[in-house]
Amino acid sequence: MTQGNVNVAHVRDFVDRHCIPMESPAHVHDPEAMDAALARLRPVARELGLYLPQMPVAQGGLGLGWVERAAVFEEAGRSYLGPAALNCAAPDQPNMISLLRQGTPAQQQRYLAPLAEGRIRSCFAMTEPAPGAGSDPSMLRTTARRDGSGWVIDGHKWFITGAIGAAFCIVLAQTEDGPTQFIVDADNPGFSLVRAIKAIDPYAVGGHGELRFRACRVEGDAVLGEVGQGFAYAQQRLEPARLSHCLRLMGRARRALEAAQAYVCERSSFGDRLADLQQVQAMVADCHIDLHASRLMSLDCARRMDEGTSVKTESAMTKVFVSEALHRIADRAAQLCGALGMSEDDSPVALILRELRPFRIYDGASELHRATLGRRFLKST
Ligand SMILES: Cc1cc2nc3c(=O)[nH]c(=O)nc-3n(C[C@H](O)[C@H](O)[C@H](O)COP(=O)(O)OP(=O)(O)OC[C@H]3O[C@@H](n4cnc5c(N)ncnc54)[C@H](O)[C@@H]3O)c2cc1C
Repeated sequence: MTQGNVNVAHVRDFVDRHCIPMESPAHVHDPEAMDAALARLRPVARELGLYLPQMPVAQGGLGLGWVERAAVFEEAGRSYLGPAALNCAAPDQPNMISLLRQGTPAQQQRYLAPLAEGRIRSCFAMTEPAPGAGSDPSMLRTTARRDGSGWVIDGHKWFITGAIGAAFCIVLAQTEDGPTQFIVDADNPGFSLVRAIKAIDPYAVGGHGELRFRACRVEGDAVLGEVGQGFAYAQQRLEPARLSHCLRLMGRARRALEAAQAYVCERSSFGDRLADLQQVQAMVADCHIDLHASRLMSLDCARRMDEGTSVKTESAMTKVFVSEALHRIADRAAQLCGALGMSEDDSPVALILRELRPFRIYDGASELHRATLGRRFLKST
C-alpha cells in the first residue's frame, strides 16, 4: 500500500530489518544509548526516502496528509525506535508543528530547521508538580515578567518528555497578559535539569525530566506566537499530538499481539496447542476488535483533520478509547505469553505493556476527557 509518496511496506521492512534488530534492554532509561541508536538509524531512513513523513516538502519532509501518515506512523510504531528514526516521535513532532504554525521566520531557521534535520532534540514543558498545573492548566504557577527588552521566567516543571539532552524547551508561563509560550535554550544559565525521572515507560527519547527556571532571562524574540495565547496554542497542539500518539502506539500494541500470537501457535498445554483453546482464541479476537476499532476511530479523526474540520470532540473520544484499548491489547498479550510475557529481556511484550500504561494519563487523563465530553454532550441535550 502506498500512502502519498511512501510505500508502507518499505516502512515495515525498515522497522523489521533495521529498528527491531537494534532494540536492546540497554536502552531502558538510557537516553544517550537511544540517541546513539537513532544516529545510526536516521541516515538509513533518509536513504530509503522514509524520513520526516509528516513535514511539508519545503521543510525537508515527505508532505504526507493525516490519513496518509496514519499507516506510516502505525508501521513505524512497531519498534520503539521506529518513530524517532523517521523523526516523527513526540515531543519533537508536535514541537515542529508549533514552530511551523507560530514560529517567526527567525525562530524557524534557528529551531525548526535543525529539529527537522534531526541535529537537535526539544521538549515541551507545561505540567508542574502540585499545586501547579496538571489536568487543570489554569493552575499554572510558572511566571514570566517583562524585564526591559526581554522576560524573566521562574517556575518548576516535571515529567517533561525529551528533556534530557534537549537543545531547547517550549515552556508555558503565566504573564500579566495571560499564558504565553516561550522558547528557552537549554544552555540558558537560568534553566536547569533537576533530575531524570524514571517513569514507567522505559523508551522515551530524551527520557522525562524535572526542570527549574530560576530568574531565567530570555529576549523578546523568545516568545512563540502571541503573548497571552498560550492556552489556545496548547489546545491546538494537543489535538494532533493525541492522534499521533494513537497512531504510533497502535504499532506498539500490534507488536505485542504479534508476539503473543506466535507464542500461542507454538506452545502446548495438556495436549493442545494454546492457539486451539477457545479462551485463547477469544482473547486474540478481542485484541483484533480493539485494534480495528482504534484504527477506524483514528482514521476518522485523521480524515477530519485533512478536511480542516475541528476534532475537539472526536480527538478526545479517540484518545480515551484508543489509550484504553491498546492497554487492554498489551495486557492480554502479556497474559497469553505466560511467564515470557513478564520478562523484560526475552520478549518485547512486558515493556510494551509498561510503555502503554501512561497513555491513559498524558495528553489528558481518561477521567478528564470523559468529564469534558459528558458535559459537552449534556449541554447540547
Ligand atoms: C510518561 C509521561 C510523559 C509526560 N510528558 C509530558 C510532557 O512532555 N510535557 C508536559 O508538560 N507534561 C507531560 N506529562 C504530564 C501529563 O501531561 C500530566 O501527567 C497530565 O496532564 C495529568 O496531570 P497530573 O499528573 O498533574 O495529574 P492530576 O491533575 O493530579 O490528576 C490526577 C488524576 O486525577 C483524576 N482527575 C484529574 N482531573 C479530573 C477531572 N476533571 N475529572 C475527573 N478526574 C480527574 C485523573 O484520574 C488523573 O489521572 C507526562 C506524563 C507522563 C506520565
